[in-house]
Amino acid sequence: MSQRSTFDLSPPTPQQFDALAAALTADERKVLLDHGTESPFCGVLLTEKRAGVYACRLCGLPLFLAGNKFDSRTGWPSFTTPFDEHHLAYIRDTSYGMVRTEIRCARCGSHQGHVFDDGPPPTHQRYCINSVSLEFVASTDPLPDRLGRGAPEGAVWHDADN
Ligand SMILES: [Zn+2]
Repeated sequence: MSQRSTFDLSPPTPQQFDALAAALTADERKVLLDHGTESPFCGVLLTEKRAGVYACRLCGLPLFLAGNKFDSRTGWPSFTTPFDEHHLAYIRDTSYGMVRTEIRCARCGSHQGHVFDDGPPPTHQRYCINSVSLEFVASTDPLPDRLGRGAPEGAVWHDADN
């Protein structure tokens, strides 16, 4: 898998994290910080089809590209591959009597969803992500730069695959 980016993956300071967490809604906090799952078919990103980037709702790190989104009919936004595998943390999750792989933002540690191996070819991966964990950034808009890291954050992301 290609390494797309030169994003600064060092975590937010505790002060930055607290400030960003304080700005979340109750629903966002429940998923991102308390590892909850939103109800299926409630997410506003389900029908989003524009070109762009899906970034972490908390810290703004790009996690998925619109070009890798597909309709899994599960009721959650689903992707076949990450923006950059280094932008995700993969955690073994044995809650609810199941063995699953939890997906977190590799930079801020916020919960995103789970990845399953029943996705479409060629990757056969299904990244099943909560809408409230993500922020859609249209391809014409600059990426968020919530941590003051500078470019490529805060700039429009150009990607040939997207
Ligand atoms: Zn994050």
